[in-house]
Amino acid sequence: RSEAAPRAVTDTTGAASPLDAYRVAKEPYYRAVADEIALYEAAYSVRMPMMLKGPTGCGKTRFVEYMAWKLGKPLVTVACNEDMTASDLVGRFLLDANGTRWQDGPLTMAARFGGICYLDEVVEARQDTTVVIHSLTDARRVLPLEKKGEIVEAHPDFQVVISYNPGYQSLMKDLKQSTKQRFGALDFNYPEHEVEAEIVVHESGVGLDAAKKLVHIAEHARNLKGHGLDEGISTRMLIYAGSLISRGVAPLAACRVALVRPITDDPDMRNALDSAVTTYF
Ligand code: ADP
Repeated sequence: RSEAAPRAVTDTTGAASPLDAYRVAKEPYYRAVADEIALYEAAYSVRMPMMLKGPTGCGKTRFVEYMAWKLGKPLVTVACNEDMTASDLVGRFLLDANGTRWQDGPLTMAARFGGICYLDEVVEARQDTTVVIHSLTDARRVLPLEKKGEIVEAHPDFQVVISYNPGYQSLMKDLKQSTKQRFGALDFNYPEHEVEAEIVVHESGVGLDAAKKLVHIAEHARNLKGHGLDEGISTRMLIYAGSLISRGVAPLAACRVALVRPITDDPDMRNALDSAVTTYF
């Protein structure tokens, strides 16, 4: 491939940056589905904050890893959860032998040294946590560290990316409009049949025939979303099933373990899915 290797990240003095550890060294496998690569590159070129929307396990994280590699930028990933506080993102004072010392959080580190900060499943975080990204995601591009009395101006390379699963939202748990409207958005979904089978083959090592069958089973389950299933079988789950099969597990057992048992506890739904599996394997 002709892509340049990721560039070293240096600050203005040329010293190594703490983000060096966050560089994506090897090209991640990413199978483009539409024009998402070109759109993301354009968005990055104007440092537009981006929202990757779609169900869990459909390739959002892999895509951002690939884009960080392609753009040669470090990637700082934060898995969001409801116990997360603004300090977990921004940083805090720590006590050590010499007294107190400030430690940048992942968001501050990315902003200061110029990385892509990926907030995965951002709606899991409380809204009072999420608002700390506001001043970084508008024209100001600054991050006030109130406890430290410092205003960090974002490095020119800095960008915020969030992932968002539209299926999970309730009124209690959603992004504020004032947060949403700071982002450009790309829709992700499970890839079409042939492409998804190709991804499953690549990632799990299972043969193409079996991969196609797995995709059929997933498509069957995806049609049941909203009719007894909260979420369909994801590409990630198909890769698990494929990995078990390619290690010699019988396909029926592999599908039960990796596809059916994880997504439902309902006995009737399990039976329905198990019998869908037996029509293919
Ligand atoms: P998400 O972040 O949407 O929950 P991931 O990016 O972790 O999902 O995707 C789950 C797995 O599916 C990845 O580890 C990767 O193996 C595979 N995958 C999904 N879509 C793609 C794609 N377009 N190209 C390559 N791998 C993919």
